[in-house]
Amino acid sequence: MLTVYSTRRSVIAPPGTHVVVAAAPPGSTYEEIPLEPGRVFALRGLANDLRLVGAGTVRLFLDAPLKCKACKSEWATAADLKRHELRTHKGGK
Ligand SMILES: [Zn+2]
Repeated sequence: MLTVYSTRRSVIAPPGTHVVVAAAPPGSTYEEIPLEPGRVFALRGLANDLRLVGAGTVRLFLDAPLKCKACKSEWATAADLKRHELRTHKGGK
């Protein structure tokens, strides 16, 4: 079990924990996953998982995400999904 401690609270972020990207430098990635705001993904137990959570790059995500029909990526809100579809799939059909 991975645990990160901060002065205000502790955060437990074991592999498989679903997180949503809150704020990430443009172009940054988590392995092959682009860290775009609103994207939901599962942590993989990488060395920098705790740093991502501790720095506020990602937040724990406990709801059911919305899935892109084209590429199966997952998003926190309908607006996040729509923005992804327009940007990545050019509106599609
Ligand atoms: Zn997609």
